[in-house]
This record gives sequence, C-alpha cells and structure tokens, in this order.
Amino acid sequence: MLEVKEQKEYGTIKDWKPESTTPKLFPLSYSASNELETCEFKYACRKMYKVEPDIEDDTVALRWGSACHKILEDTDWVASNFNLDIYDNALVEYGFKLKGESGKLLILDEQVCYGVYAAAVSLLQLAKKQKLETVACEFEIKLPYLYGFIDRICKEESGGWWIQDLKTSARIMEAELAARLIRDKQLNLYALPEVIEMICNQYNLEAENFRGVRYTVAFKTKAKVKTKEKLKDYTERNQPKVLDFEIPAEKLDGKTILSEHLAKITRASKLRAGLETPIRNYGSNSCFAYNKPCPYFSQCYGKKAEELQSEIKLMTLDNAKKVNTPIREVKKPDVKIENLF
Ligand code: SF4
Repeated sequence: MLEVKEQKEYGTIKDWKPESTTPKLFPLSYSASNELETCEFKYACRKMYKVEPDIEDDTVALRWGSACHKILEDTDWVASNFNLDIYDNALVEYGFKLKGESGKLLILDEQVCYGVYAAAVSLLQLAKKQKLETVACEFEIKLPYLYGFIDRICKEESGGWWIQDLKTSARIMEAELAARLIRDKQLNLYALPEVIEMICNQYNLEAENFRGVRYTVAFKTKAKVKTKEKLKDYTERNQPKVLDFEIPAEKLDGKTILSEHLAKITRASKLRAGLETPIRNYGSNSCFAYNKPCPYFSQCYGKKAEELQSEIKLMTLDNAKKVNTPIREVKKPDVKIENLF
C-alpha cells in the first residue's frame, strides 16, 4: 500500500529565534558544510528557519544512489550474496516499487529500477575482482565537530585497510576526479586521525595499516529499457562504467581541510546564534544549480521561479521588434550607502 507521507512542520524567517545566543561548537556534516559554502541563506532556510520550500527537492537522483548503497550494504559487497529480494527491498525502501493490494510489487519507474540493478551488479563485479574483505558498512562518525557515515571499511589479505566512499553519478568525469580527489573535503575529513582511531578501536585494526581512501563511482546508464527486457540482458547490453580511485593516505591533507571545516562551524554557529546574518549567494550555480531552481527561490526573489519566468519579457530572433518603452519616473534607492558602513 502507498504510505502516507509524514506532514512536516515549517517555520518562518520572521518568527525564528536562536536557541542560544552563545556560539557553540557542533558536529557539521559534509553535506551541510557544502550547502553553507554554496549559499549561507539556503543553509539557514533549511537548517535554522525551517521554511517551507517552493518545491520539494527532486530526490530521484538521491534515491537512485541510496538504493544502490542499500544493495551493496545488504550484500556486504559480496556478489554471491546478491539476490532479487535484496534488490526489491532496496527499491521499495527508496520508493521506486510499491507493495500493491495483492502483495505484488508495482514498478513505479522501470528505467530507474533497471539502472539500479545494472549499477549494483557492476559494483559487485568490481568488488569480486578486488578481493577486499568488508569490515563494516555505514560506519557512523560522531565527533564533536563532524558527523557522517563511511560507506565501507575494507581490508586487504595483507592486513592493509581502506575507507571506501561510494558515489553514483550521471556525468562521467574521470580526468576531473583523478586530478582533484586528493583535496576532496569529504575524503580528507573521513581520514582524519580521530576517525582512524575510532575505526581502529572498534574493529581491531592498526592505524599504521591504514592505506588510504577509495573513491568508487558508478555512472548511470541512460539506455532505454526494451519491451519485456530481462534485468540481466539489460545489464549485459548497458554495463555501467564503474571507477575506483585509490587515494593513498600520504597524499591526503586532513590538517588544512580540518581547519577550513572548523572555520565553517564557527561561521555557522554565529549564524545559529543570531550574531551574524546569512549571506545570499545569487550566483547561477547556487540559485539554479543543475538547471533547477533553488527550493527557497521565492524567499530571495519574491516569487517562485516559474512565476517570474512568465513575467519577464523574452525576445528572440523570431519575435524581436523595436524597443520603445514609455518614460517612467526613476525611483531612487532609499538606502544611503554611507549609512551601511
Ligand atoms: S535562491 Fe539563491 S540566494 Fe536564495 S537561498 Fe537559494 S541559492 Fe541562496
């Protein structure tokens, strides 16, 4: 049966009051830190004011990736553990299949379901070739300044061990990743000495055997599913590309990344205490990232993106004509610049 969505309670910017006016250290996740970097006001709308978004975030891509993660976790990254029940459970959990009245599964998005299967199979094939033993999946990091989950901790036969981060992506970006991963914020934070110590204590591993971080990406296949095509045939026809980047521990620079992370926490704690005002970043990469309007667009532009789009005149080569607007009185800004400083 279709589950009823939980009703969220939203707040307003006007009514927001800080819980405490003293800035405090708090655990900041990598995703919250990224949002803060993209646009402080967006972070504030979501995390502090809790205002209702114009549109719910399009979660298909996110859920697609989560379903893949779930399969890898439930199989312990072992190909021979994979079966259709594990696959179905992952799709039901992330809303791509529904349990119908008769108990049979109803497929909501066939293309996504086939894509998840193909990606999971490719990742499991890669894991089989690498012969890394899974020590833990979804390891929770809980430090006073950092919160997050490590997708997998895995071990070589020799005793060397790795932290593995799994991503799914629509865009193949091999060269870009190879060049920038040694300074990737998330990878460096997850390999901090305090995190390594937590892992060693919990799983009886040696810190000196920590080899580094593996960044594993499965790229989505865009091929259409043929009528009545079987999952295996689709996967063979469109085997998704998977890449596994090996970042050795000695190439990481946790110290620099940590000090930048702590600076973000300081900034966020001042915002949360109401001592500073969140800055809006009107750049197209934040207000219209991935060609989609920011969920809090109307809070900054006064109207929802689609309403504004229909109000702004657009000329093209086909409809262009003489521009001759009537003369209007020009309004002077009522803010004196010198009063601002
Ligand atoms: S619309 Fe732009 S400025 Fe406003 S919160 Fe979103 S990203 Fe920030």
